[in-house]
Amino acid sequence: MTDIDTLIANTIREDVRAGHSYKVPDASGYIKLDAMENPYALPADLRDELARTLADAVLNRYPVPSYSTLKQKICAKLGVPAGYDVILGNGSDEIISIVATACARQDKRAVILAPTPAFVMFQRSAQFAGMDYVGVPLQEDFSLDMPAMLAAIAEHKPALVFLAYPNNPTGNLFAEEDVVAIIEALGETGIAVVDEAYQPFARTSFMARLPEFPNMVVMRTLSKLGLAGIRLGYLAAAPALLDQFDKVRPPYNINVLTQVAAEFALDHLDVLDAQAASLNDARTALAQAMAALPGVTVYPSSANFITVRVPDADKTCATLFAEKVMIKNLSKMHVLLANCIRVTVSTPEENSVFLNALKASL
Ligand code: PMP
Repeated sequence: MTDIDTLIANTIREDVRAGHSYKVPDASGYIKLDAMENPYALPADLRDELARTLADAVLNRYPVPSYSTLKQKICAKLGVPAGYDVILGNGSDEIISIVATACARQDKRAVILAPTPAFVMFQRSAQFAGMDYVGVPLQEDFSLDMPAMLAAIAEHKPALVFLAYPNNPTGNLFAEEDVVAIIEALGETGIAVVDEAYQPFARTSFMARLPEFPNMVVMRTLSKLGLAGIRLGYLAAAPALLDQFDKVRPPYNINVLTQVAAEFALDHLDVLDAQAASLNDARTALAQAMAALPGVTVYPSSANFITVRVPDADKTCATLFAEKVMIKNLSKMHVLLANCIRVTVSTPEENSVFLNALKASL
């Protein structure tokens, strides 16, 4: 009989065996403030209309492989400049992996560089693609350490630099001139991926500047805007670069239901934008309320979450958990995040449950 452990040792690569899967805690029964989702559903009349549209989706066929209607709609409605196009991913997670796969080399270890703490998939995708990952610590106020970034770029010559704008898990926007200096420092040797997952809340973007920087690409997602369940990310870039990324994209990676739902949502973007605007108001209120609490440091956020430092993050998370509120404890993620927690901005009701539990934990 085959021993399964021997089989695994003989087949699965060592770093995968030593690693762990992306952990997502089960949140049933909890107020879920750990994953930067939009708490609002589409209004009932739009959901009915969407259901009728989905009923007509052609499920017995593969998707139309070019996705041209959806792509055109994204370009037209989401500010992709003329002459530029998008590639689609099953969430921007898949796009990170596509870009890494395209840049990983067989003759030497290519490098992904990112300021840290950063979105964890930058590092994981580098590892899985067989690339080296270089993390350059942010400064204590979570701004970019520009001398360190420029030195690391000169030393490691990264093929890819990921800059989340705003950054996750810190919530802040990096200074625009710093981002530009990094793009310029990379020149012809590296691609800067500006990850604008939280752009609906930041209300600022590098998208319009694509023509200025041939080595910059802009990645976004519909997840934070209110469609996390359909898994759709996109990357805007010059067609010549997109052609390369498209070669490693799995065929039919966007399913028909996602395609139909995304096209529908883009026709009703005003509804999602209004939800984002109200979450931005709620963010201001929540940040102010937390800042008034003793021992709590609130970091500036341009996203739909807020990162705060509390006296004892483990205790705060345990109290919130007991009150059925799920947030993210960032403490062990990075030295800069000691005793930091991250909370998604939600409805006024959920924010107030969170706030009361936070107060109780202090
Ligand atoms: N980029 C950043 C900065 C993120 O925080 C996230 C999700 N938390 C993603 C990309 C991935 O988003 P998705 O796969 O849902 O598009």
